[in-house]
This record gives sequence, C-alpha cells and structure tokens, in this order.
Amino acid sequence: MGLAASRCLSDHSIDHVVLERGEVANSWRHERWDSLRLLTPNWQSRLPGYQYDGPDPDGYMTMREVIEFISRFAARSGAPVRTHTAVTRVRRSDDGYDVATSNGDLRCRTVIIASGACNAPSVPALAAAIPASIQCFTPFSYRNPNDLPDGGVLVVGASATGVQLADEIVRSGRPVTLSVGEHVRLPRLYRGRDVLWWMEASGVWNQRYDEVDDLVRVRRLPSPQLIGTPERVTLDLNALSAVGVEIVGRLSAVRDGEALFSGGLRNQFALADLKMNRLLATFDEWARSHGRDAEVGAPERFEPTRAPESSRLKLDLRKTGIRSILWATGFKPDYKWLDVPVVDEKGHLRHDGGVVDAPGLYALGLPFLRRRKSTFLSGAEDDGRELVDHLVNYLAKPAAES
Ligand SMILES: Cc1cc2nc3c(=O)[nH]c(=O)nc-3n(C[C@H](O)[C@H](O)[C@H](O)COP(=O)(O)OP(=O)(O)OC[C@H]3O[C@@H](n4cnc5c(N)ncnc54)[C@H](O)[C@@H]3O)c2cc1C
Repeated sequence: MGLAASRCLSDHSIDHVVLERGEVANSWRHERWDSLRLLTPNWQSRLPGYQYDGPDPDGYMTMREVIEFISRFAARSGAPVRTHTAVTRVRRSDDGYDVATSNGDLRCRTVIIASGACNAPSVPALAAAIPASIQCFTPFSYRNPNDLPDGGVLVVGASATGVQLADEIVRSGRPVTLSVGEHVRLPRLYRGRDVLWWMEASGVWNQRYDEVDDLVRVRRLPSPQLIGTPERVTLDLNALSAVGVEIVGRLSAVRDGEALFSGGLRNQFALADLKMNRLLATFDEWARSHGRDAEVGAPERFEPTRAPESSRLKLDLRKTGIRSILWATGFKPDYKWLDVPVVDEKGHLRHDGGVVDAPGLYALGLPFLRRRKSTFLSGAEDDGRELVDHLVNYLAKPAAES
C-alpha cells in the first residue's frame, strides 16, 4: 500500500519517502507459509497504473510471483523507498510530524500509515491455558507440515488461513480437528466464473464504507473460506470433512488440559449457508438485470454444510494425541511506534475512511477502510488516489490553519 500511495503522490509531484523496515514486499517474503498462493485471481492483481499481464489471468500467484510482481511495480514507478529503515516513533510537532527511524530522524507535514493490517497473529487469551507439552504455532511461525510434530493437530479458526492449513496438514497424514466459529462460506467458482469476478462485476467488491449499515461489524468480518489453486477448487467445510478433518465448534475455554467447544455448530453452518445464498442471489439478480445471463452458466445452489451427527464438545488434549495447535484466529496491526493518541483501547486506529483522527495523518490497507476491497492489492489504487487527493488539499492550506 505504501508503494501505491507513493505512485499517487508522485502523480501530484509531492516530495515524499517510503520507509520500509525490511525489503520491498517484506510481508510476502517473511510472514507467509510456503504453499500460500493469493486467493485473488491474477487479473485482479493491480496497483496504480500497473497490472498483471502474464499468460494466466485466471491463476493465483505463488509467493515468489507476488514478490516479483510488487518488486517490478516498485522499480517501474521509481518509488523512493528506503529499505531496512524501521520507524520507531512518530510524534506530532508544531507543523507536522517528527519521525524517528533506525536510520536517523525526519520531519514531515503529513504521514501515511501503510504498515499493514496483519503485522502479528491474533491469538486468544485462553491460549495461556494450553498444556506446555503441546506445541503452538501461528501463521507466522508455521511454514509447512514438516514443522509440526507427528500426531494430532488442532487448528483453531476456519477462515481463509484455517481452512487452507487444515487441508494441507490433513493431507500430510496427521489427524486434524478444526474448531469453527463465525465464518464466511464462498464457492471458488459460481456459474463458471471466479467468485471474485462476481464480486467485482456486481459492485459488491467496490462497496463503499459510507454505504454499509454496520461499518464496525463489516470491518471485523473474517476472511472468506477461499483458496487459490491451479485446479480452482472450492475449500469449504464439506470439502474438509470429505478428506477426514473433524469439525468441532468454537473453542470457548481450556480447562485442566481439556479444550471445550461451543455447541450450536448447526446454527453456525445455517447462518454461513444463508449468507452465501443471499450473496449468490445478489449475483443472480445483477446478471439478470444487466442482461449478462447468457455469458455465464445457469444459477447454482450448493449442498448445505453437513453438520456432524454429534459434534464433540470436549477434547482432552493430552489423551487424544493432540501434539500441536495452530492458531488461525486472525491477525492484528502493530502501532507501538505511533506516539499519537489515535489508537483505541482495542488497538484499532481511529479514522474516517483512512483520514486519521489527527491533522495530516492518513492510513491505507485496513479492513473496509474506504471499500470492501481495501485490504486487497486491488483496493490500493482507488483508496490511495482518494486519500492522496485529501492530503493534497490539506497541504495546500497554510500550516497554521491545518
Ligand atoms: C495470509 C494472507 C493472505 C493474503 N492473501 C491476499 C490475497 O490473496 N490477495 C490480496 O490482494 N491480498 C491478500 N492479503 C492481504 C495483503 O496483506 C494485502 O493485499 C497487502 O499485503 C497489504 O499491503 P500493506 O502494504 O497494507 O501491508 P503489508 O504487505 O503488511 O506491508 C506493510 C509493510 O510495512 C512494513 N512496516 C511495518 N511496520 C513498519 C515500521 N514500523 N517501520 C517501517 N516499516 C514497517 C512491513 O515490513 C511491510 O513491508 C493477504 C494477507 C495475508 C496475511
């Protein structure tokens, strides 16, 4: 997002610098597991004035390809990036901000925070009660199934990360139990097209933050159960049950070495199925009303999520052979370096569509920042341009007024 903002700033001839604690595309180089591919199709990989133009628009990039894609963009747009420069403190000054870095200090009138929404795994407090004999992993420490000890694995969380890793781990021959809370079910393909084609074409992907009813809630929605594979498979809970993953409810407590799971799986499944079907109906209505029915397949509905006959409510972690736990419970940003009072008690930045609650401070890349697509590569351009327009107007005012 920082590189996208840089492109937009350059288009306005605004003098700026991009500070990066590691290398270009750092998170893709160092904070992802080996098998990960983007869940967004290649045609949707675009940044300001730059877009995937390879031979496989419907494929999904590997991490190596993502790193190449972003590095090429940085080089082509001539972004003034200072790598290996960690921002250690940002503080308000009389006419802007004082920025301390591992490579010296800077002063500037405005700051765009593009440090990412996923700087650290978000692990629930109940993890503290897990017996010491069980090894815990997060998407930051897990690289591939060889990292895990032999024996059973409990994967907690069934959004994009949890379903992808449960699938990979069960295929490595380890028994997997998957703990499922609120989740967003989506098919990979719908009526012959990628579900993200439907999202984009129907306008859902571009939906704006000032158009939704409950912004707080949509900003916290989990990522959809999707995986990008050459075979373009759907990876939902039915697919995971079919390969032998045991599905249990939300992990609610750990007591005396026992993991306790909520009941009500059937309700969770019914809700996720209902929401998916509502979205598919939105797509159908869009295709009908825009005269697009002829270019896609017939409307489809998918088998409801199969609930286990009786789901397990308790798992004795030691006696049942669980040797490791993978916390696929989400990610959180890190603002420890931000010495401006704009972070609420839950660790979220206070902002209105990326205009942060302090003069001349902006943010990019947060969930539903200005649009549903804001945390995705394809969201960088529209958000970046609008925020940079705001920033340009801000800079046009004399410092004393702003
Ligand atoms: C597992 C996973 C899968 C994803 N899959 C997709 C996908 O399929 N498609 C898609 O479009 N998006 C995907 N995303 C979202 C993806 O993170 C964003 O598209 C994109 O990386 C966001 O860019 P960003 O610049 O906001 O954050 P990041 O890519 O995290 O970049 C932030 C940068 O800031 C640097 N930084 C942080 N703190 C400091 C500091 N104090 N000083 C200096 N530098 C700092 C970091 O080193 C990093 O390079 C995925 C995310 C995750 C976690």
